Amino acid sequence: MAFIPVNEPLLNGNEKKYLCECIDTGWISSEGPFVREFEEKMAARVSRKHGIAVTNGTAALEIAVRALKLKEGDEVIMPTFTIISCAYAVTQVGAIPVLVDSDDKTFNMKVEDIEAKITPKTKAIMVVHIYGLPVDMDPVLEIARKHNLRIIEDAAEMHGQTYKGRPCGSFGDISIFSFYPNKHVTTGEGGMVVTDDDELAEKCRSLRNLCFQRSARYVHEELSGNYRFTNLQAAVGLAQLERLDEFVIKKRQIGKRYTEGLRDISDISLPLARTDYADNIYWVYGIVISDDVPMDNKELQKKLAENEIGSRTFFWCMHEQPVYQEMGLFKEETYPNAERLARKGLYLPSGLAITDEQLETVIGVVRKIFS
Ligand SMILES: *Cc1c(COP(=O)(O)O)cnc(C)c1O
Repeated sequence: MAFIPVNEPLLNGNEKKYLCECIDTGWISSEGPFVREFEEKMAARVSRKHGIAVTNGTAALEIAVRALKLKEGDEVIMPTFTIISCAYAVTQVGAIPVLVDSDDKTFNMKVEDIEAKITPKTKAIMVVHIYGLPVDMDPVLEIARKHNLRIIEDAAEMHGQTYKGRPCGSFGDISIFSFYPNKHVTTGEGGMVVTDDDELAEKCRSLRNLCFQRSARYVHEELSGNYRFTNLQAAVGLAQLERLDEFVIKKRQIGKRYTEGLRDISDISLPLARTDYADNIYWVYGIVISDDVPMDNKELQKKLAENEIGSRTFFWCMHEQPVYQEMGLFKEETYPNAERLARKGLYLPSGLAITDEQLETVIGVVRKIFS
């Protein structure tokens, strides 16, 4: 039996055609015409005025934090259950992540815990939509308005998702996407900052490109790295974006089939199909082993691998990261829901190229493990 990878992207649209155009015309750098076209189409897709394509989603978060001028000592409220990119973007400028626990059903930050974490040093809330369902945005927007806080929206996993009918990626002062191969739109590596604010957009463009100046290119008032996005990446991105609606339908079919196939296993809980404000797009299909089952996600991952099935354990909480503990951050803090997800949660193969046959194989193996 062939190994079933945790993710395989689908690249059988116009990707090759547009890539060949890059090669035939010689436009392969960040100066090529597809970059602007991809930025415009992606921004329009999420109802934003500006899109600034960058090297990856992590870079997009770094640039967002710097564009908002967050600095040493500023506090940014964010979920503890997320990827390191979020906390890294904040700590790289000396600002401090202030963490909140997760909702055990949606895996998203507990919105009701945010307000208690606000101090005079709080400058922003970093909202991260996790695994397929969006954060309940209305209360977050209200809190931000009331306390005059900026919102950074990490929509890295949310291409094609909406909250109450509005596109994810349209809620932050700055919002970001990733185009890593396990995202709904991939460019191999890649990311984008989107915003409606002309000044922030200009700032992000400058931060993307070494802070070169318009009038005196090699004279620097500010420093930044090179986060430019290539025409080759944009070629793939354009072809992917053309199929986003189709991809979301496919992801929902994958999620539906897994849920049908695994529903009666009492030892695991399955992702919610919907909330009051969104239908799950199953960026990944995450399952959580019940508390009373003496098995953690690492053991389940091993059993799946023995059956030639790839999987990934859930994120490891920010407050339990050795690197931050060593920096003296998050000492004695505990977030029980997030800690449980980190130990008991795992996601199954759910890439866009997965076949019906592979899906049935995975379902069969999971059923066997818990029988
Ligand atoms: C993938 C991801 C990122 C990082 O994106 P990269 O392109 O891999 O740097 C950031 N945030 C979330 C929530 C992600 O899922």
